[in-house]
Amino acid sequence: MEETQALLRLQEIDLELMRLNTTLKSMPQQKKLAAITAAQKNLAGKMKQIIGQRKDAEMELDDNEQAHERTVNRIGEVQGEAQDRARDYRGVRDLEAHLTALAKQLEKIEFKHNELEANLEKLLKAEQNATDLGKRLEEERAAQQKSLDDSSSELMARVRVLATERKQVMSAISDEVAKTYAKSAKRFGGLAVERLKGNVPSTCRVKLQQGIFNELMRGPLIAECPYCHRMLVTEGALADE
Ligand SMILES: [Zn+2]
Repeated sequence: MEETQALLRLQEIDLELMRLNTTLKSMPQQKKLAAITAAQKNLAGKMKQIIGQRKDAEMELDDNEQAHERTVNRIGEVQGEAQDRARDYRGVRDLEAHLTALAKQLEKIEFKHNELEANLEKLLKAEQNATDLGKRLEEERAAQQKSLDDSSSELMARVRVLATERKQVMSAISDEVAKTYAKSAKRFGGLAVERLKGNVPSTCRVKLQQGIFNELMRGPLIAECPYCHRMLVTEGALADE
């Protein structure tokens, strides 16, 4: 393959690859997948928060139950002491006051226990809901990914064919021309190369003055357009098409 032909084909291949890429990226499943990713990220943050709160709630409940046990034990002890001191009237009265205070304390602890239990239950439910949502999102992701793979498989096959051909084409292009092409493709959004047809470049379409045209025809087959500075293939400029 001649270098000029290879260069022109390279541009065609790259433009088609760009179009394929755009098509693949703009498939509706891509948007849905991006939305699912955002939802999963959001959920992960919430889940972390819920788990933290749930652990705190479990600890609080545990503390409450320990306090309950201590208070019940203390009541037992004080009751025992009251029996031992049955004849010491004043001492018994003090102990009874102590018992009343302990009973009040116990009531408070039990009231708080209900609150803490309800709170923990609420958090466990929230955690379960978040887990369920996570599963649904994962299922939805798998379904969207499969749908995307199915509908893009033909395009992907074409991408692979083009990639293989691109390698072959590149082997017919010198390093220097390849470098210039890469720079030009970047600068001109892929439209790196134009052909001279008669005295008009195919992309910028600025008619060349006769002197410049003559000079280009005496120069290399791959030149630079004096107007737009794309690569300019001058070979075949005068051929009838
Ligand atoms: Zn030009």
